[in-house]
Amino acid sequence: MPDIIRLLPDSVANLIAAGEVIQRPASVVKELVENAVDAGADNIQIILKDAGRTLIQVIDNGCGMSPTDARMAFERHATSKIKQATDLFSLTTMGFRGEALATIASVADVDLRTMPHGDSYGTRLILTDNKVEDQHPETCVPGTNMMVKNLFNRLPARRKFLKKDAVELSHVIHEFERLALVNLDVEFTLMHNGTILHQFPKSNLKQRVSDLFGKSVGQQLIPVETETSLVKITGFVGMPENARRRNALQYFFVNGRHMRHPYFHRAVMQCYERLIPADCHPVYFLTFSVDPASIDVNIHPTKNEIKFENEQAIWQILVAAVRESLGRFNAVPAIDFNQDDAPEIPAFDPSAGGAANIPLDPTYNPFTSQYSSSLGALGGAAQPRSAGGATHASSINRKYVPSNWDSLYANFQSERDPHPSTMGVIQSRINDIPTNDTLPLELKPEGMTAVQLASRFIITPGADGLLIVDQHRAHERVLYERFINMIESGEIASQRLIFPETLELSTAQDVLLESIEKSLADTGWDISRLGPSTWAINGAPSVIQDKNPAETLQAIVDDFAATGKPVDEEMLSRLATTMARAAAIKPGQILSSEEIDRLLSDLFSLATPTYTTDGRTVIATLPLTDLSRLF
Ligand code: ADP
Ligand code: MG
Repeated sequence: MPDIIRLLPDSVANLIAAGEVIQRPASVVKELVENAVDAGADNIQIILKDAGRTLIQVIDNGCGMSPTDARMAFERHATSKIKQATDLFSLTTMGFRGEALATIASVADVDLRTMPHGDSYGTRLILTDNKVEDQHPETCVPGTNMMVKNLFNRLPARRKFLKKDAVELSHVIHEFERLALVNLDVEFTLMHNGTILHQFPKSNLKQRVSDLFGKSVGQQLIPVETETSLVKITGFVGMPENARRRNALQYFFVNGRHMRHPYFHRAVMQCYERLIPADCHPVYFLTFSVDPASIDVNIHPTKNEIKFENEQAIWQILVAAVRESLGRFNAVPAIDFNQDDAPEIPAFDPSAGGAANIPLDPTYNPFTSQYSSSLGALGGAAQPRSAGGATHASSINRKYVPSNWDSLYANFQSERDPHPSTMGVIQSRINDIPTNDTLPLELKPEGMTAVQLASRFIITPGADGLLIVDQHRAHERVLYERFINMIESGEIASQRLIFPETLELSTAQDVLLESIEKSLADTGWDISRLGPSTWAINGAPSVIQDKNPAETLQAIVDDFAATGKPVDEEMLSRLATTMARAAAIKPGQILSSEEIDRLLSDLFSLATPTYTTDGRTVIATLPLTDLSRLF
């Protein structure tokens, strides 16, 4: 039998690598900017045309390349950053695989000008179709100016995979945000089709966050700082009341590199347990500094996933540091006085790792009275209601309720409205819900009594037990059906706002809002651009008119950004969902018995009242069998 194994030619190997490393314009931006950072640049300009399809240009003032190095740089596995295997364990550069440029040249045309500082001439190198077309000396400024043109032009299949410009651009912007957050001593400019999207000087993390995401985000940050022999963690976490349902800004960095780390993410989420609603996410920007030898960056081609040697110990340090910051800044609201329920600060076990000098007080508890005295952190409006609700819940004597009863309340505290100030604004409009008496038999409450419990649940007898209805979700479910009908029949009316509201967005959100502007107009929104990333809301769908339009629109943008799907029919359903959520009565709102009756009859007239459109439970049953077990 003849030998059949062959080595792949480099050109094919590059294309395969391109599938992993270069997936879209944003990947090129990442690789080129990381190269510029590695070259020691402190000024980096990124210029894009057509979301990077036509042109991605990165200009840096870094060390530049000699003519030979410029050519070598495009060879596969050519790198100046590691020389031997052991270097892999002391990486201080972003790059080290030496494949990015080779890969880029295999999927795009390249035009490079580069000159080391101190030289009088630089070199210009033009590569087409992965081959050097021309190289000659040219007058250049010191540094590197790399143009990547016509990405994937030679690969129609790959090009087809690219999304609409708005989506690709938002990927680029997200990548840019990650790069800008971690390279604070670099001045950045980001331009797209002749417009400057971002431009800012060297700064600190807090200032960068404000530059990137707006002043209001910058003002909501609580500093986190801890240093042990194992890891230094610095950065910021958001105040609990600013947690978002979607698209929360959540960033981990390690040794100057952005990373995803689901395990550490859970650590942070754990610190916010009971401080924020279950479906909300806190903001965080956390930077880890560790010995390069204690992490493995090389487990994923995009180097986004990183393995830590001392993950468990770092988990404990992280949780302690974040909790301490939340407690110190009085971010812990006083809804949970009960010591038994307070989350434990893990006592660090020194035998678990080499971090003996962690400043950890195992007796420290953010829920003790000195911390809980500061109810103010949550804002005034919601406080009496939340506190009242919590009293209700905890006054049920645990001995006498079945174990699953607890779980009915488990979500209660975590479902508080995260924006108490809006609760005053959002007034119930239950009155306009028409009554409807046709209830499906199995759900029809027996008898007429329905009562509200803990200003959140409606309890009513059902055919085979007690029905417990979540008032907010029930109303959301009812309104969704109504809104979707109105949208589909084109009945949704727009109502002018007496005082137009303004909405400030991040650049990525701005791009997305622009791309859904038309669908929004179809559903009754009247918005216009005020400036870069700032919009005026002149009119809103009449159905949500008094429900804080700016916040609803923000929720819609967040929702759209989270899925990144094109504007399509599903989008109308998403719009209806978000608007219904905004307009629905909130947990904590006290309802009259007429309101309760209307809500129930409306709910039970739906074909599928049991779940919200995104699958959250609306009605739970406490079966008779469970009840009789109590006696
Ligand atoms: P890696 O970054 O993994 O080394 P790349 O393919 O990204 O691999 O780059 C190859 C080499 O080209 C780098 O090691 C570096 O020596 C050189 N290089 C790339 N970009 C620049 C730049 N902007 N300035 C100076 N040198 C660069
Ligand atoms: Mg590189």
